[in-house]
Amino acid sequence: MRRFQTKFFMLVAVLWFGIASESVGLGGVKENINTITEFFNVAGSSADKLPLNKTSDGSSKISSWIQYWAYIVGDKNNIKVCFVDGCGKKGDEIGGGHVVKKINLVCPWPGSNDVYILPICKTHNGKDVCYGMISRTNVVAVRLDNYRKKDMLNFGSMVVKKRGTPFWNKEETGRDPYFIHFWAEMHTKHIGSLRSIFCVAGNDDEPSCEGGLLGAHIVFEEREDADVYILPLCLRHKIKGGNESKEMTLKSDIYAVRLAK
Ligand SMILES: [Zn+2]
Ligand SMILES: [Zn+2]
Repeated sequence: MRRFQTKFFMLVAVLWFGIASESVGLGGVKENINTITEFFNVAGSSADKLPLNKTSDGSSKISSWIQYWAYIVGDKNNIKVCFVDGCGKKGDEIGGGHVVKKINLVCPWPGSNDVYILPICKTHNGKDVCYGMISRTNVVAVRLDNYRKKDMLNFGSMVVKKRGTPFWNKEETGRDPYFIHFWAEMHTKHIGSLRSIFCVAGNDDEPSCEGGLLGAHIVFEEREDADVYILPLCLRHKIKGGNESKEMTLKSDIYAVRLAK
């Protein structure tokens, strides 16, 4: 009987594999990558939280992305091999990596459906986001539903802050590009679209900041339990987070995202 069940399971699995993707309702969609496809690492993905912490029957705990991948794809034999063609690393070297199919998607927007989880070795997972990696044929990926949407669900609210208001960096939160997208998305959704985004730190007599923008974690009060907000800052102003006592002022009126506690 047991033997029959195993065979039956394999038959079902083969049928499933014939379908391009299958919704499993657990935060991810299984997708068979048949052709040789190019992938890129996602910037800032280490902050993404696992959609599951247990299997649906509660029999085992899911505490890593590779366990999540194995559970969703139904990898009963735990065949975890780095997906990159020609690599072939296995075992403890392998984790579940966040990857995308196009280089212009390496900083995905909140709620994106373009992010895949694939088994990847530490070396390839550590490659720069511009490094293209070709998949082996017949790699089974998990495409995430609504990348980092949990962060959005817990967003809090949009609060207008007046020009000249003092603020401070909360902490050095890294250069996770998610937060600038998050701020822009929240602004578009709740206030209106933006023609341009600029660094809001500084005074009128200072020249405009140059370079790319990041979504910075900031506070408007120097209290330990003060509310934390997200605002667009240039890298020069954001790295003042290394020195939390540096006071900055808002260059213009702006809506900040107040994070829920
Ligand atoms: Zn590898
Ligand atoms: Zn600036």
